[in-house]
Amino acid sequence: MQNSLHDDNRYDVAIIGAGIGGLSAGSLLAQKGYRVIVIERHNVPGGYASNFTRNGFKFDVSLHSFDGVRPGSDSFKCIEDCGVADRVRFLPHRKLYRYVHDNDMDLSVKECDLAGYIKQLVDLFPGEQQNLDHLFSEAKRTHANVAGFMYSRLPFFLRLIATPFLFHRVLRYEDTTVYDFFSRFTKNEQLKKILAAQWTYYGLPPQKLAFPYFSYPFIDYLCNGGYSIEGGSQALSDALRGVIEENGGKVVLSSPVTKIFTDGKRVFGLSSRRTGEIAAERIISNISPYDLRSLIGEEHFPAKTSRALADAKSSISAFQIYLGLDCPMETFGVSADEAIEFRASPRDVPDQYAAMLRGEIENDNASWSLNYFSNIDPTMAPAGKSTLGIFTLLGSEGWFGLSKTEYRAKKQALTAHMIERAEKILPGLSKHIEVCEAGSPLTFPLIHLGRFTALSKMSISLD
Ligand SMILES: Cc1cc2nc3c(=O)[nH]c(=O)nc-3n(C[C@H](O)[C@H](O)[C@H](O)COP(=O)(O)OP(=O)(O)OC[C@H]3O[C@@H](n4cnc5c(N)ncnc54)[C@H](O)[C@@H]3O)c2cc1C
Repeated sequence: MQNSLHDDNRYDVAIIGAGIGGLSAGSLLAQKGYRVIVIERHNVPGGYASNFTRNGFKFDVSLHSFDGVRPGSDSFKCIEDCGVADRVRFLPHRKLYRYVHDNDMDLSVKECDLAGYIKQLVDLFPGEQQNLDHLFSEAKRTHANVAGFMYSRLPFFLRLIATPFLFHRVLRYEDTTVYDFFSRFTKNEQLKKILAAQWTYYGLPPQKLAFPYFSYPFIDYLCNGGYSIEGGSQALSDALRGVIEENGGKVVLSSPVTKIFTDGKRVFGLSSRRTGEIAAERIISNISPYDLRSLIGEEHFPAKTSRALADAKSSISAFQIYLGLDCPMETFGVSADEAIEFRASPRDVPDQYAAMLRGEIENDNASWSLNYFSNIDPTMAPAGKSTLGIFTLLGSEGWFGLSKTEYRAKKQALTAHMIERAEKILPGLSKHIEVCEAGSPLTFPLIHLGRFTALSKMSISLD
C-alpha cells in the first residue's frame, strides 16, 4: 500500500460490512466526529436487515420481531444513540405471539404484559404460581444485569472489573443453560417447553442455549414488546446509512473488501473494489471471521482464533418462504392483531433440534412458525393483499455442493411441503399465492464458534 495516499483516502475508522452491526457502529462513531467509511459488497445496505421486492410485495429478508424498542427501554436508548429514533417507526405487535402446541394448547401472549402472561401460565398450571414468581423475579434481575453490562458507560476494562459487583448474575449463570435455569424453579416439563416457546429465534434448543444471553430478549419481549419496522428492516438500515452520511461519513456499496493491510503489529488500511486502497487508523470487521482471516492473511491472524475457526462447525440455518397473497389475511380467519404464530411439535425440543439439523422436518418432527408481516405493517403488500412468511430452522447438511437443477428441485420440494402444511391452518392458501420465494441454508449460511461466538443469529451455546 502506498504511503502517499491523498487525505480523501484516509479514515479514522473503516468498517467492513454494512449489516446492522457495521451500520450501527458507523452511526455511533460518525456522530462522535470520527471520519468513518463503511464498505459493503452488496448493492444495498443492511445485510440480513434488508428487504427485497417482487410484484409490489415487500419482503423483509430476516427480521420477524425486533425486541423491546419501547421508548424508555434500554433497547430504545440504543436506537436513540444511533440517531435513528425519529427516523424509523416501530410498530408494536399487539399480540406478542400465539403458541399452538400439539392441538391441545393455544396460548396468545399479549404485548408488554408480564403479569398477564404469568396469570395465563398459572391458569394452565395451578400450583406453579410461587415457582413462576420466583423464576421471573430472577430472570428480570438477570436481564437487568446483562443490560447493565451491555449498556454501561464504563470503559470495557472497568466494566469487566466491576462485573462481579455490579452485574454478578452474568457470572453466576455463565455456565447455566436456559433449561437448567427453568429447572431450578419448576419440575414441570410442559411448562418449561412453553416458557421457551420462542426458542427457534435463537437457533439453539433451551438445553444448549446460554441463559444470560437468552435472558435479555426473553424479558425484553415480554415486558417491552416485539416490533416490526415500518417499511421493513431496510428502513432502519437506510436510516443508519443516512446518519453516517449526514455526519460526514461514507457508505460505499457494491465494493467487496479484497485486502487488509498490516505491518504484522497493527492494521493500517484496506483495499476494496470501488475505493481502491485507503488508509485507516482502525478497522472494524462485521463479516465472517473466515473471510477476515483471508483478507488479512493467515500469517497475521491470531493463532488461537485460527484454531477456534478450525474447530468451528456449521450452526443450524433456516428455511424461510416468502409469500405474496392476492387477499388479506382475514380471508383465512386470521385476525389483524396476529403477528407470529409458533406451531410447536409434540416431540421433545432436543429431538426436534436433531431432526432439524438432519433436515428431517416432515411429519410434525419440528416446530415452525407463520409470520403475518403485512398484518402489522400494511405497507409491505399492495392494498387488499398480504405477505406471509413460513419459517423453520434447518441444518445445512445436504444443501452444499448441489448442481443448480438439484438445488432448485430440493428447494421446490421443501417449499411445496411447507405450503401444504400451512394450508391445513390457512385453508385455500395455495390458491391465493401471487409471489413465492424461498431462502435456504445457502441463503443463510451461519457458523458456530463454540462457546462464546456465533455469527448472525448470535446465539451463545454451552456446548
Ligand atoms: C431467517 C432469519 C430470521 C431472523 N429473525 C430475526 C428476528 O426476528 N429478530 C432479530 O432480532 N434477529 C433476527 N435474525 C438475526 C438478524 O437478522 C441478524 O442477527 C442481523 O441482521 C445480523 O447483522 P450483522 O450486521 O451482524 O451481519 P450481516 O447482516 O450478515 O452483515 C454482514 C455484511 O457484511 C457484508 N460483507 C461480507 N463480506 C464482505 C466483504 N468482503 N466486503 C464488504 N462487505 C462484506 C455482507 O454482504 C453483509 O451485508 C434473523 C436472521 C435470519 C437469517
